[in-house]
Amino acid sequence: MLPYIDHWIGGARTAGESTRTGPVYNPALGTAASCVRFANAADVDRAVGAAAAAFPTWSRTSLGRRATILFKFRELVERHADEIARSIVREHGKVLADARGEVQRGLEVVEFACGLPHLLKGEFSENVSSNVDSYSIRQPLGVVAGITPFNFPIMVPMWMYPVAIAAGNTFVLKPSEKDPSASMMAAELWKDAGLPDGVFNVVNGDREAVDRILEHPDIAAVSFVGSTPIARRVYEVATARGKRVQALGGAKNHMVVLPDADLALAADSAVNAAFGSAGQRCMAISVVVTVGDSADRLMPLIAQRMRAIHVGDGLDQGNDMGPLVTQQHRDRVRAYLDEGTSAGATLVADGRAHDVRGDANGFFLGPCLFDNVTPEMSVYRDEIFGPVLSVVRASTYDEALAIVNANPYANGVAIFTNDGGAARRFQSEVQVGMVGINVPIPVPMAYYSFGGWKASLFGDAHVHGGEGIKFYTRGKVVTARWPEPALRGKNLGFPAG
Ligand code: NAD
Repeated sequence: MLPYIDHWIGGARTAGESTRTGPVYNPALGTAASCVRFANAADVDRAVGAAAAAFPTWSRTSLGRRATILFKFRELVERHADEIARSIVREHGKVLADARGEVQRGLEVVEFACGLPHLLKGEFSENVSSNVDSYSIRQPLGVVAGITPFNFPIMVPMWMYPVAIAAGNTFVLKPSEKDPSASMMAAELWKDAGLPDGVFNVVNGDREAVDRILEHPDIAAVSFVGSTPIARRVYEVATARGKRVQALGGAKNHMVVLPDADLALAADSAVNAAFGSAGQRCMAISVVVTVGDSADRLMPLIAQRMRAIHVGDGLDQGNDMGPLVTQQHRDRVRAYLDEGTSAGATLVADGRAHDVRGDANGFFLGPCLFDNVTPEMSVYRDEIFGPVLSVVRASTYDEALAIVNANPYANGVAIFTNDGGAARRFQSEVQVGMVGINVPIPVPMAYYSFGGWKASLFGDAHVHGGEGIKFYTRGKVVTARWPEPALRGKNLGFPAG
């Protein structure tokens, strides 16, 4: 009998009404470790009800009190970071150092949100007319929801809820059903930090829960992170119901290597960025575009580094790469190896033959490398989301840039070069939301905003940073006059300065 993972509604764990459940695997062992409940519409309604009931008090809670709770939450997450990271390894599979890094990047958003008294300041103009002042304020939206993917079970939800809650909203989170425990741990820590019941709620589940969130009349805004087809649908359905939506989608991130680049650095960067977290990162490098003769010099350096990658259980120190999240996903990724080969790409490293230091039933696949990939091949077109790196050879900078800009995804991109002029041209000409110059995974810090372009983001606002504050608040402008006796009496003229 497997343990159940419940929902968190109104400050307490609850089994809810629905009897549907799904397995949560330990991907390194290939066995189900727990059973997560799948909310139905009534369960979502209860969570939204708890959040709506908490909103009037929370939105009027002083900025100082809100900041105190956020500081306390930050301290508790830091204290429990190792426990959270281990739970992520058990359900996601990534190695422990990577999971700790994820907790750290999430904490940075909490730290950003701790500055809420400053972040929520409005503007004031004295004497916009005689004895008339004008000022702007930003107010919370109400109940807001977050729907998040499996690949960063603590960091991606933390892109959302610290900022939303700091701004005075109440929150309903629907985490991935593949690794929900980190969100339940966060709920407990919020309570310990003194957050009033109902301000933060977690409903576990699948499409049924998501569909109710998208149509619920009391949810004012939806933040979504996941694959492009679902992001597009979430955006279309929720905006049609009048909600504010930011829906971040999938990615196919390119790394352009110019002939003058430091090739040892480029090889290290390509391997780390392609195979970290077994390629299950929205900012993973999945395509290296070599320019001119850089390919012949770079390929052996990449292949040599790949051979040194230790694949195995993420909890065993010394492993660099864990398994994929589910067997189904591993098999889907593995199928691309045959597809790429039959389309004419050269399989330089076959991860199926890589030594695995883990359980034979684990969902492992070693690092894979394709050379001579061309843009019409499925290994290039599709987001594989696994440890498969493709190399596309271009003759010139312009050809490489055209390849990147023709791709429908536009989350992250990197250029490796020692030519400042070329890098500067690239940062201006490339049609992608986040750009790295000799940095393979250019994830913005919490005080900047994170987001892609084109099929990698639907909506106008990126997450966290200034755009996150704007997304979770709406502006109001007040024009005020405090009448003096001299101003009384008839005056039908249009007010002028
Ligand atoms: P996913 O799209 O399958 O799931 C994301 C969320 O949507 C989950 O909570 C899931 O339960 C829900 N969902 C799944 N199918 C649904 C459906 N038919 N209707 C309604 N809801 C549904 O994504 P995933 O596999 O969990 O995560 C990997 C994807 O997320 C990749 O495409 C990756 O690039 C993307 N991602 C993007 C970013 C970014 O910042 N752009 C960050 C992380 C992950």
